[in-house]
Amino acid sequence: MDLAKNTYQVLENVAQATQKANRSKNSVEVIAVTKYVDSSTAKELVKAGIHHIGENRVDKFLEKYQALKDERVIWHLIGTLQRRKVKDVINYVDYFHALDSVKLAQEINKRAEHIIKCFLQVNISKEASKHGFAVEEIDTILPELEKLENIQIVGLMTMAPIEADEAELNVMFQQAYQLQQRLQRKQLPNMPFTDLSMGMSRDYTIAIANGSTFVRIGTAFFK
Ligand SMILES: *Cc1c(COP(=O)(O)O)cnc(C)c1O
Repeated sequence: MDLAKNTYQVLENVAQATQKANRSKNSVEVIAVTKYVDSSTAKELVKAGIHHIGENRVDKFLEKYQALKDERVIWHLIGTLQRRKVKDVINYVDYFHALDSVKLAQEINKRAEHIIKCFLQVNISKEASKHGFAVEEIDTILPELEKLENIQIVGLMTMAPIEADEAELNVMFQQAYQLQQRLQRKQLPNMPFTDLSMGMSRDYTIAIANGSTFVRIGTAFFK
């Protein structure tokens, strides 16, 4: 693993995809998903200039958070969160990407000591195995979420199926983008809907072409 080379390559690919889409230079943030590596490797990435760190599991998140607490890091919890674990982790989280039920939102709101930026996870692909709200469900839950003053809904998060080809990815990512744009136009209180968390190692350039503002990249850094 050549971390410096991989980091350079990821940032270069992101810059090129952003430019190709006629988007402004700083419109896409790269989250390094460090679930595959230990804290010292994560720290190396931060020293190399990556400031968004993501973990999908609470125990690993807390481990990295402890080890890197003297570094300048913006912390992303990107995976499914069980309600009983909210209190252990939520106050260390800057962005939570996997909000998938109103009950979970209520628990986060209750435990949070600062405003937690959250993405609504949306199951665009309709895979039974995937978490997230159905597209048709989103509008009906917004009034419930609007009441929760410790939660700010910054946007949507989605994950594409592993087997999707480029054409299918474009369709799904474009659908997520259109939904995000529509929700943003509603201008609801506590719900700016300015962001779109989509794109992983195998599909982040396609996600950027379709308006992603946060890409969650693991493998491409650590291969
Ligand atoms: C692991 C993970 C990623 C990163 O996946 P790679 O394919 O390794 O880039 C992104 N998002 C979530 C939710 C993950 O669990």
